[in-house]
Amino acid sequence: MKNNNKHSSHRHHNHGDMDHLKHNNSKTEQQRDHKHHDHHAGHEHGGHGGHEHHHHGNFKELFLKSLPLGIIIMLLSPMYGFELPLQFTFPYSDIVVAILSTILIIYGGRPFYKGAVDEFKQKEPGMMALVSLGISVSYLYSVYAVITSYVTSEQVMDFFFEFASLLLIMLLGHWIEMKTIGEAGDAQAELAKLVPKDAHVVLEDDSIETRPVADLKVGDLIRVQAGENVPADGTIERGESRLNEALLTGESKAVKKGPGDEVIGGSTNGEGVLYIKVLETGDKSFISQVQTLISQAQSQPSRAENIAQKVAGWLFYIAVIVALIAFVTWMVIEDVPTAVIFTITTLVIACPHALGLAIPLVTARSTSLGASRGLLVKDREALEIAQDADVMILDKTGTLTTGEFKVLDVKLLNNKYKKEEIIALLAGIEGGSSHPIAQSIISFAEQQDIRPTSFDSIDVISGAGVEGKAGGHRYQLISQKAYGRNLDIDIPKGATLSVLVENDDAIGAVALGDELKPTSKELIKALKKNNIEPIMATGDNEKAAQGAAEDLEIEYRSNQSPQDKYELVKTLKDEGKKVIMVGDGVNDAPSLALADVGIAVGAGTQVALDSADVILTQSDPGDIESFIELAQKTTRKMKQNLFWGAGYNFIAIPLAAGILAPIGITLSPAVGAILMSVSTVIVAINAILLSLDPKNNG
Ligand code: AMP
Repeated sequence: MKNNNKHSSHRHHNHGDMDHLKHNNSKTEQQRDHKHHDHHAGHEHGGHGGHEHHHHGNFKELFLKSLPLGIIIMLLSPMYGFELPLQFTFPYSDIVVAILSTILIIYGGRPFYKGAVDEFKQKEPGMMALVSLGISVSYLYSVYAVITSYVTSEQVMDFFFEFASLLLIMLLGHWIEMKTIGEAGDAQAELAKLVPKDAHVVLEDDSIETRPVADLKVGDLIRVQAGENVPADGTIERGESRLNEALLTGESKAVKKGPGDEVIGGSTNGEGVLYIKVLETGDKSFISQVQTLISQAQSQPSRAENIAQKVAGWLFYIAVIVALIAFVTWMVIEDVPTAVIFTITTLVIACPHALGLAIPLVTARSTSLGASRGLLVKDREALEIAQDADVMILDKTGTLTTGEFKVLDVKLLNNKYKKEEIIALLAGIEGGSSHPIAQSIISFAEQQDIRPTSFDSIDVISGAGVEGKAGGHRYQLISQKAYGRNLDIDIPKGATLSVLVENDDAIGAVALGDELKPTSKELIKALKKNNIEPIMATGDNEKAAQGAAEDLEIEYRSNQSPQDKYELVKTLKDEGKKVIMVGDGVNDAPSLALADVGIAVGAGTQVALDSADVILTQSDPGDIESFIELAQKTTRKMKQNLFWGAGYNFIAIPLAAGILAPIGITLSPAVGAILMSVSTVIVAINAILLSLDPKNNG
């Protein structure tokens, strides 16, 4: 199935986009209201990255301030009742430990309790609940143990060492993790910046009044000077100019517009002065519609994988259930004090010291590896989701292609001239033109050290090209349409052709267009090999889209408005597919935010960067390949670490509950302590061994 707009012929396809967006007004307005508090809630949870807990505190400060307290506690209290080197006690040292631990749990434990409350509110206990359980039980029981030892002078084992080490490791893990996560940008604010604050309104008596854009009304006539951004959507009444709409539509060249044409607020006016009649203001404007789409996308629940969170959840439930069973069973077959000991040990053992470090270390290693390859991973869950993605939607202009209007080919149409001479003539005649084509041709000649032919006179033929005199000949460089005859030459698909005519004979031709980036083809091959289906979606016209798509051998959609791209992502997601979106323009921002993983090309607009989960700082499509590799390897490491880190806990929980006690096997504290330390060291080393294949291209 190819593109369904194949036969549509939007000359100014933005026009189509606007209509499309307008039809959705009533719907989007409703959704916007609904969105407002969603957005608020979404913010609390760290944007669309799922349930993050990093807003609960500055873990660096928490860890560093808790460290001395924790170390003193650990030096003064035996591990599982087992004395380690350097440890010591003195009379009443257990009271000192209890006081220090009380300070520590209040200061360092806060973020975990807050996080646990959030998890319970979402009915999804995970790491925070598990840590809270572990520190509460070990702290409370240890305080009870100290009190008991003074009241009854009976020695009860305490868990202050486990309490302090668990809290410190968890704080450290969260600090490492916090450092690796980038700031979520504010796409909405960046979008708003595109629209100027003031508009110059032309009054009845032709005088100009400068008014805030918010006070513009439909029907107002506004003046936009050369180089200014257009303040509102409207139709040109007077004036002609080239408008750069690349920010909005992804279109590669400045589009020439005149009376009757529609312009979009936020686009940049080129060289002419425009008088524009305002068509849409406020919420109904193009930019507002894009803003609405973005916030709509951000309010969607993200398909966060986070296997670590899931494993922590299982551990939580298993710990609670096993502890309950152990309590009841031991109470029946022995007595309450025995039951309490087994229950407490079970709950303390359930706390995964190793997990607290395992996953953050993998994440930290992975994000720094990524950064060294120009991949900024803002949302670490993107790595887990991307590793088994089904579809990748790629924007064309600026993503797969360079987004610059460049000379693709120069053809000779008779044998009188050499190629250098044709290029010299082309560059010479363009000296008199301000058309975007002219600059491309002049720099093309410069790159090859070809000196432009000097012309005696040059005139612009409006809408067709340029003409001039040199060396007694009359030359024209005009569009194929203006030339009027068919030229039997091969030019790249989607390219624009201009013909060089000398005294009515075509002597050369130049093809200009957007060029594929060098690594684009390889990326598409790699995606197919990884069973990720590539689809190109572009705001460009059918001809330009088809050319690039055929070169790349991929499916495509042309004439795509921001809403169309958004719908495409939505449809694929609704089919149950995991979707990665890659883009660079404002028009890509809503779909970047909606996709399971949004990848923005670094050279793109700030709005796109803010909406994405991953940024390719070098704008090289080849880096998408590295990202997929990174995602796969990171997820594999996480799974290994979960196995080694939590595996110990899964086995130790039933042992701690005394399941094998009837046959004489209990988890001896010493063995428990050693296993716990070993598993922590194993996962730490394993995390650091994560690496990427050497990059083979550039
Ligand atoms: P315009 O409407 O000004 O964008 O021009 C329409 C077509 O005329 C372009 O697509 C080109 O093929 C041709 N043309 C206009 N100006 C130039 C120029 N300076 N150099 C080469 N071709 C031009």
